Amino acid sequence: TELPADPSEINIPRQVEQACFSYVEPKKTFNPSLIHASVEVGNSLGLSEEDIHSDDFLNTFSGNTIYPKTKPYALAYAGHQFGNWAGQLGDGRAINLTEVVHNDKSYTLQLKGAGPTPYSRTADGFAVLRSSIREHLCAEAMHYLGVPTTRSLSLMLSGDQVIRDILYTGNPAYEKGAIVCRVAPSFIRFGNFELFASRKDHTTLQLLADYTIKHHFPNIKSEGVEKYLDFFQTVTQTTLDMIVNWQRVGFVHGVMNTDNMSIHGITIDYGPYGWLEDYNPNWTPNTTDNQHKRYRFGNQPDIALWNLYQLANALYPLINEAKPLETILNAFGSDYQKEYLNMMRNKLGLKTAKANDAILIESLTELLPLVETDMTIFFRNLSNVQKGDTLEVALDKIKEAFYNEKAFNESILDKWHLWLEHYSNRINQELFSDNERKEQMNLVNPKYVLRNYMAQLSIDAADKGDYSLLNELFELLKKPYDEQSENQKWFAKRPDWARDKVGCSM
Ligand code: AMP
Ligand code: MG
Ligand code: MG
Repeated sequence: TELPADPSEINIPRQVEQACFSYVEPKKTFNPSLIHASVEVGNSLGLSEEDIHSDDFLNTFSGNTIYPKTKPYALAYAGHQFGNWAGQLGDGRAINLTEVVHNDKSYTLQLKGAGPTPYSRTADGFAVLRSSIREHLCAEAMHYLGVPTTRSLSLMLSGDQVIRDILYTGNPAYEKGAIVCRVAPSFIRFGNFELFASRKDHTTLQLLADYTIKHHFPNIKSEGVEKYLDFFQTVTQTTLDMIVNWQRVGFVHGVMNTDNMSIHGITIDYGPYGWLEDYNPNWTPNTTDNQHKRYRFGNQPDIALWNLYQLANALYPLINEAKPLETILNAFGSDYQKEYLNMMRNKLGLKTAKANDAILIESLTELLPLVETDMTIFFRNLSNVQKGDTLEVALDKIKEAFYNEKAFNESILDKWHLWLEHYSNRINQELFSDNERKEQMNLVNPKYVLRNYMAQLSIDAADKGDYSLLNELFELLKKPYDEQSENQKWFAKRPDWARDKVGCSM
């Protein structure tokens, strides 16, 4: 890509043609300070704790100095937003600093909120403290839950103020600016391919596909059309795995636009995401999606498939045959069902597969919403049920998960008894001892997740300069499957005041 003649115009919004990226420079920050860093992410990049607390680190990951011999850039991409074609988007507030290889693994380091790029459109290129805390905490929490995700190296205050409309008042206000450094193999999205396909720029499309496969999919050895099909097959599979993991832990992304879909099948773009508290397939944390609820929990698998169709369309010019792409897409539904079923079996502590398991699982997911059941607490406590338990004893062990015990009536009680009876019969068919089952279940049913109110409490404190809760939650969420009896207070239902309160993306 060519730089504009006048360097001061480098970040001016524009249509960028025939290029996969633009060189950009992060904006200098006024007074950067490190709030929190993930030492583990630093280590995986070859940075010691001492490095992390150095001036070099502060200056590099606030965007204040450009590391020698690197050339930061912003990627051009497009996408479908809420089902509609949105045209050119691109890294509007993300700047890729560089790529590093450590222990044979390659990582792209990307600042989020480091100022405008040619893709900023009408927005400012910055990020505020609250959304940056949400990204930093959640990305790392997801990693420790075993969900494929971008990582977060650091969270900094820029020392600058950023203007935002506060959602609830509609009034503009100043907020603290912040910068997160995200880490991933790459930040290439479905939307990168869609951009060139939409412009019929098949030369750049192929260049991007070849580059992506060569550098990020070294296992693909085929050539020609087969190569692109193998690529699509791989992306389909990793996307499917990611969604199964989201459904396992109750994560709702909230903005599954095709520009927020990584070709690595990792969770990217922590905006208005949320966690299911009471199990409700219709829930979405995204208040702008409240009418259609396109990105609701229960719709995530279907949306993933819809997005894969858009990627298939974008890759079509390289393949020129619809059939093999359709074959891959058509397998998604049944493949997903298979993986979902296995995942739910694991959540229930069932090692073997039995014909009626799908019915057992479906009746449970229909039952959970009836009296608002906390998903995390329910599955965690279900592991306490033992083979000889009476229905009353078994129900007693899970009822802590119910938000609305008043809604419990005879008919609901009957349904729970019926389900527990099936469940009890089912675990009796397993060779697991009660203890073994509990151990296995606790490996897939987290005890601690980043409940929306927890993130909010840490944001409120951080806004006043107190980062102790942020630190505490970060440490807590590093071991989400451990008992951590000293942290019992975070294994609790959402408090009443936090009902319907969700975070926000900007
Ligand atoms: P999102 O809904 O977060 O996926 O954002 C959609 C698009 O808007 C992406 O291309 C972002 O880079 C861009 N964007 C979001 N927020 C900002 C911002 N504050 N400044 C510039 N671009 C932004
Ligand atoms: Mg995005
Ligand atoms: Mg976003």
